[in-house]
Amino acid sequence: MNHSPDPSPDLQPNSAPSPHRNLCTDCGISRSSEPKRCASACQFISPQYAALESRVHGRARDPNRADELHFGPFLHMHRASLKKPSPGAQWSGITTRIAEVLLASKVIDAVLTMEADPNDRWRPSPVLIDQPEDMAKARGMRMGYAPLLSLLEPAQQKGYKRLAVIGIPCQVYALRALEKTLGFEKIYVIGTPCSDNTSTENFHQFLNLITPNPKAVTYLEFKANYHVELRYQNGSRQEIPFLQLPLADLPKDFFPLTCRTCVDYTNVLADITVGYMGGEGEQWVITRNQTGEQLLSLLGDEVELKKTGSAGKRHSAVLGFKKNVELAAGGLPLRKMPQWLRPIVSWIMPRLGPRGLEFARTRVEMKAIESIIHLRREQPARMKHMLPEHIWALAKAYDLKPQADEVQVSGARAAL
Ligand SMILES: Cc1cc2nc3c(=O)[nH]c(=O)nc-3n(C[C@H](O)[C@H](O)[C@H](O)COP(=O)(O)OP(=O)(O)OC[C@H]3O[C@@H](n4cnc5c(N)ncnc54)[C@H](O)[C@@H]3O)c2cc1C
Ligand code: SF4
Ligand code: SF4
Repeated sequence: MNHSPDPSPDLQPNSAPSPHRNLCTDCGISRSSEPKRCASACQFISPQYAALESRVHGRARDPNRADELHFGPFLHMHRASLKKPSPGAQWSGITTRIAEVLLASKVIDAVLTMEADPNDRWRPSPVLIDQPEDMAKARGMRMGYAPLLSLLEPAQQKGYKRLAVIGIPCQVYALRALEKTLGFEKIYVIGTPCSDNTSTENFHQFLNLITPNPKAVTYLEFKANYHVELRYQNGSRQEIPFLQLPLADLPKDFFPLTCRTCVDYTNVLADITVGYMGGEGEQWVITRNQTGEQLLSLLGDEVELKKTGSAGKRHSAVLGFKKNVELAAGGLPLRKMPQWLRPIVSWIMPRLGPRGLEFARTRVEMKAIESIIHLRREQPARMKHMLPEHIWALAKAYDLKPQADEVQVSGARAAL
């Protein structure tokens, strides 16, 4: 690869068609000058979570340390909010503010992240940002995936040595797998959790079903209070309970197999993970190593940190989810519940269902179960390559155990 500075590199992501593997989220590596690196970089081919966790954090997750089996290695977890939320941010804007401070203090040369496509506010588009004030255009969530890592080579050509990368787990996995070969002096990795992603086209279909005015929607979030929040151009807001979403009207393949079988919900290879799942209405910040601690400390007293909380019990919720996934016969997990009961259950769930860290554990276990069931049905030969040991450990309480041909010969089975 060429690492020499180039005064006029093409900073546009390569617009070649995305690769035709059905287990690919087009992270950008297949569009690079060495697409064969997918073989060692891809979380859907032969991921090595324990080895990468050890390299990045100094140790793999410790099942005896509370919550590491679920959330990966970490030093601290907080509920957190910027005291002055950034306009346009998805939550309070911790993610983009950290990157902005890194740029302003010249710790890094550029940030690799997503902005909105100029023709579609919901479509992510990779961008390299080198001015702190330009971080504002990255704020907010887009639905779908785009080839973030296709801008690594342009960053090298531009002569950038120190980068921050903001990415979702499948992008961060490939970045970490290749990190040592990229030639940067330092890469700060700010990760967000990710789940239930789909193509931007599918997302538009969903938006059309849940609101009569999809074009006016400026914000959407699946919140930890079991509601989807929508915000509109005129400033109005709407909350729709999960149970009242028209999931049954979506096509069977609405969620691609990648996102139904993605085992890294919490972005375990980031230095710092910034989400909301365990935040009880605020953000949920996980610092995973000393670099992550430094990144959070950059915010000083701009950020308010609180203890995480946990309430409710997840077992029956996860068990119910498992039954639905099995029943759905390859489609979406439909809930067999009469219409009249849905508003009542929707009211009860945020009050009595799992909350805080218990909600986050619930979702991580659901994802583990979903990955096993969908791979077993659709790509059984991939199971032994794609499912790390900790997924089986998480699923064990729900009577899901590996068959002989579903695990590598040494490793998982012996440990279970
Ligand atoms: C598809 C998707 C699903 C998510 N699901 C969950 C979840 O289930 N649980 C949870 O706790 N958190 C989830 N998140 C993260 C969450 O929505 C917030 O992004 C996170 O809490 C950070 O909030 P913030 O205010 O600090 O972000 P901001 O400061 O607004 O920054 C958001 C950052 O995310 C980047 N970004 C936006 N969309 C994308 C995209 N499609 N792909 C890659 N990068 C993107 C932006 O470029 C920006 O850098 C998800 C994010 C995405 C993109
Ligand atoms: S490494 Fe990225 S581009 Fe390559 S197959 Fe995996 S997701 Fe697709
Ligand atoms: S759910 Fe997983 S595979 Fe799908 S986009 Fe998010 S991180 Fe990638």
